[in-house]
Amino acid sequence: MFSPQIEWYCAQCESVPTDRRKYCADCDSMLTWTCTGSGKSGLYTNYYRHRDNCNYCTPELEEERQKKLEEKKVANQQHFQILDDSK
Ligand SMILES: [Zn+2]
Ligand SMILES: [Zn+2]
Repeated sequence: MFSPQIEWYCAQCESVPTDRRKYCADCDSMLTWTCTGSGKSGLYTNYYRHRDNCNYCTPELEEERQKKLEEKKVANQQHFQILDDSK
């Protein structure tokens, strides 16, 4: 069974929503998330940015992130090679 990686809760009234929503149904405060895999937490508005960069939340995107990282490395190396050539 797949265990949920993200826990949502209301920091204001400490209620736990049963469905994913932006605001608490009881007190209308913005909900807070905790990523159990990475131990990070934040407000609802930061969640999507976290999810896009978190290997625990979106393991299916990990390969893509690694590729981007490699591309960045290659770009840096090329940059340094250009500098070396100008010596
Ligand atoms: Zn609440
Ligand atoms: Zn995460």
